[in-house]
Amino acid sequence: MSLEKYNEKRNFNKTKEPKGIVESKSKRLKFCVQHHIATRDHYDFRLEYKGVLKSWAVPKGPSYNPKDKRLAVLVEDHPLNYRNFEGIIPKGEYGGGTVMLWDRGYYEILGNFKEDFKKGAIKFKLHGKKLKGLWTLVNFKEDNWLLIKEYDDYANLGDIKKLNKSVKSNLTMKEIEKKYK
Ligand code: MN
Repeated sequence: MSLEKYNEKRNFNKTKEPKGIVESKSKRLKFCVQHHIATRDHYDFRLEYKGVLKSWAVPKGPSYNPKDKRLAVLVEDHPLNYRNFEGIIPKGEYGGGTVMLWDRGYYEILGNFKEDFKKGAIKFKLHGKKLKGLWTLVNFKEDNWLLIKEYDDYANLGDIKKLNKSVKSNLTMKEIEKKYK
C-alpha cells in the first residue's frame, strides 16, 4: 500500500492532518467516519485495509434505512492515524474546511477484502458508536460506489443527521470551528 497520493495533495507545514505513513495491520480492523464541511458538505467513510484507510466520500452521509443507497466516491487512501483527526484544514489547502470525527470503532469483514474490493461488493459489520451492524459497499461505475445498510436489528434506527456531535470531543460542527480558529 502507498500513501503517495495522500502526501502529494497536502502541505504538512500548513495542515495539521497526520502525515501519510503506512502502518502494520491492527488486531481489530479499524474504521472511522468524518463529517467534513469543505467546498461541499460530506461524510468520509474509511475502512482499514493493509495498514491504510480505504476512503470514500459520501455526500449525503450513511443512512440506517436499507432503502437509501448512498453514493460513496472512492478517494485516495488515508493513513490509519487519520481516525484520530478532528479540526480545521486551512482555507486554500486541499480539503479546506472543518472536520468532525463523527464515528469510529472497528469492523469485521464478511468475505475477503482484497477479492471483494476487486469484484466491487464489500460486506462488513460495523462496531462503532453510531454505526453498527451489517453494511455493504457496491461499486457501480469507476470510482462510484453505493453505501447500503443491510436489514438487521440496527436497520432503521433513525435519522443519523440528528447525531451531530463528535465521538472525540462531543462538540458540534460550530463548536469545533470556534475551538480551532
Ligand atoms: Mn473529505
